Amino acid sequence: MEQILVRAYTPSDPTKSTAIRAHRISKAELVTNVLKKLGIYWGLAFLTFFIPVYNVFFVPFFFLIGVYVAIKVERAKFEIMHGKIECPHCNEQIKLRKAVLTEDFQVTCPHCVTVVKLSVKASRTSNLSHTELYGSE
Ligand SMILES: [Zn+2]
Repeated sequence: MEQILVRAYTPSDPTKSTAIRAHRISKAELVTNVLKKLGIYWGLAFLTFFIPVYNVFFVPFFFLIGVYVAIKVERAKFEIMHGKIECPHCNEQIKLRKAVLTEDFQVTCPHCVTVVKLSVKASRTSNLSHTELYGSE
């Protein structure tokens, strides 16, 4: 388990940074995650293959969605374990559930229903010491 700094932002409010508990996804887990996603979507592509007429749309759709989702998962470096972030819009706490932190990860604030985007503060890594960014293990 590590501490990572995440940026919470919306198009119109000031950015907030919070440290949350996360799990660094290993290469092996990454492969498993990618295969799981491909399995789900390509499985759907295979199943819809048997639906007459609609299979023309569904099969390529699920096939491509599978590739798209797999690429997104492949780029994810962290899995959020638990944590809270402050909503940039209403300043209330948003509870985070266990989820893979993909590049375009977003949560909806339960208080003001603003969609908040989250990203790992990777660009500032060089300015932070390892301990500051990840905590002591
Ligand atoms: Zn809010």
